[in-house]
Amino acid sequence: MSQALRKTTGYRPPAANCRFIISAARPEQFPDGAAGVELPEIAFLGRSNVGKSSLLNALAGAGKCKLAFVSARPGCTQFINFYRIGDDFTFADLPGYGFAKVPLEKKREWKRLIETYLLHREPLRLCVLLLDARRGWMDQDLDLKRWLEVQGRPYIVVATKMDKLKTQQEELKGIEAIRAQYPEGELLPFSALTGRGAREIWQAIWKTKRQQ
Ligand code: GDP
Repeated sequence: MSQALRKTTGYRPPAANCRFIISAARPEQFPDGAAGVELPEIAFLGRSNVGKSSLLNALAGAGKCKLAFVSARPGCTQFINFYRIGDDFTFADLPGYGFAKVPLEKKREWKRLIETYLLHREPLRLCVLLLDARRGWMDQDLDLKRWLEVQGRPYIVVATKMDKLKTQQEELKGIEAIRAQYPEGELLPFSALTGRGAREIWQAIWKTKRQQ
């Protein structure tokens, strides 16, 4: 990408070195900033199977990171995985929710971990809330959205798997359904299959850096 375009769009892929930091099961395990410098943190949230790992891989791939974000077995992981993305960001991959077969106690654990993270995580700058474009908002997504709004956590919405909406009319319907519950905020369509939207999502992430 040319310097001029970078300037106008604010888009810049991350540095090539990305690395896994830790899988945190408890808040005490959340990572501190290295050498006193806390990178802005971006959290990724969504139902299991929404396409979160695929999105993370697409974003990392855009910066040629050699890091595979692995999809958790549905409902089995109650960890927050932290990754350092170059010298620019920390990504926090939060456990997917909404898997019906998870026992109630596990669901409670999940809620506790996520809420503690979202309430107290100081370097957190932006939450990326993923919705399957075909399904739109489901109850737990709406609960999370309201929760983010009450806590004043900035978030954007990414509509995943856009390639599965085959016609323009289907696309419009999918996006309108999401818009109905989210009239004003940033809504970015994304497909891991085609790469559509990765650049715009990076732009939204880079904006947080400029707001520091
Ligand atoms: P996660 O559980 O949220 O991490 O979801 P994954 O990234 O593992 O994706 C779940 C399933 O959806 C996998 O079978 C992926 O191949 C598929 N998937 C993810 N993103 C896309 C997409 O943009 N387009 C299509 N067609 N399939 C996708």
